[in-house]
Amino acid sequence: MENTEAKNNPYYSRTDTVKLNVSNEEWKKILAPDLYAISREAATERAFTGKYNEFDELGEYYCAVCGNHLFRSTTKFSSSCGWPSFFEADKEGVYYKRDTAYGMERVEVLCKRCDSHLGHVFDDGPKPTGMRYCMNSVSLEFVPDSQK
Ligand code: FE
Repeated sequence: MENTEAKNNPYYSRTDTVKLNVSNEEWKKILAPDLYAISREAATERAFTGKYNEFDELGEYYCAVCGNHLFRSTTKFSSSCGWPSFFEADKEGVYYKRDTAYGMERVEVLCKRCDSHLGHVFDDGPKPTGMRYCMNSVSLEFVPDSQK
């Protein structure tokens, strides 16, 4: 699967881990409108509409904004919530923030390299971690093992 975003995105790299400091004004020129809304304004894609919601190929998931590694497919599980769900994230890939928007107490998950919003994490996931990383498909880019 090719990342069509990456062609016009000079910050995108699957190997460079140097922290990015790019303004939203700049991102707006680079990212597709749906990706900008989710990654930079914390919007949420509609449940059951994402391309990775029902998807179980073997491979790696990267940040669609910057190419940072986020998840391995072996930590993905079928959840009924309507968004792609994982029980574990790459520790080097993400960080967390308390999110009290919409009167809810949630933990936001963000990309460590580009500070983009990815989704939220809940503690009702399966073993071994008990965590459920509830992600937006739009924020993810999947690369199959066969393409390595
Ligand atoms: Fe990123």
